[in-house]
Amino acid sequence: MTMNPLRLALVSLLSAGLVACTTAPLRNPMAQWQGSSNFDARRARAVVLHHTSMDSVDEALRTLKSVNSGGPVSAHYLIGEDGRVLQLVAEDARAWHAGGSRWAGIDDLNSSSIGIELDNDGSEPFSEAQLQSLLRLLADISARLRIQPRFVIGHGDIAPTRKDDPSTQFPWQRLAQAGFGLWPRDAPAPPPAGFDPWLAMAVIGYDLRDPTAAMRAFHRHYRGSSAETWQPGDFEILHDLQSQVLELPATR
Ligand SMILES: [Zn+2]
Repeated sequence: MTMNPLRLALVSLLSAGLVACTTAPLRNPMAQWQGSSNFDARRARAVVLHHTSMDSVDEALRTLKSVNSGGPVSAHYLIGEDGRVLQLVAEDARAWHAGGSRWAGIDDLNSSSIGIELDNDGSEPFSEAQLQSLLRLLADISARLRIQPRFVIGHGDIAPTRKDDPSTQFPWQRLAQAGFGLWPRDAPAPPPAGFDPWLAMAVIGYDLRDPTAAMRAFHRHYRGSSAETWQPGDFEILHDLQSQVLELPATR
């Protein structure tokens, strides 16, 4: 069936209007379309890990699929204690897991990350089956979306004033050994004179608007503690992590 030009214009105007109600138009009427085939899909740059702070995967699933009193939340993936991997949101869509956040100068991590929730109450160890599934999923996501290892991070790292997940029980060192996330290399040497630990924190990615919260997040992730002052060994670790981000050789 052929449509007369006037009707065709009307239909496209109407559908453009409908689309505009929810999202930006596919083709902006302010510009003349000169399509190019030289493009691909935008992709996430980071993977943000969470613990659910709940007692069961079913309870977490209900929360991640419903309207909560605190507002709706979701994640791309949920991994059960038994290792079961559930997907709730497509990877190219924006799940609501990060909230107000900042990492390495990137605001609004929801727009640029994959969120993975781990079924864990926040005080218990993470199960072996769950960690095995997480490592397999990270290998898959990181390869397909070309996620840099240092952009596998925790919710508490990107929202240090509000969040503390995953807990100090989370095995970041084991993850890094498998190629996901940063971890200090063996026996890092003391940093040179004039070393600025806060600059290193910023280079690693931490948001320093609340320095105490950032330090707490660093200690949770790298020292398994919640200390709010610098501890012996911190500067060696920070200097080594900074060197890794800046792709400088290890100093011993
Ligand atoms: Zn979280």
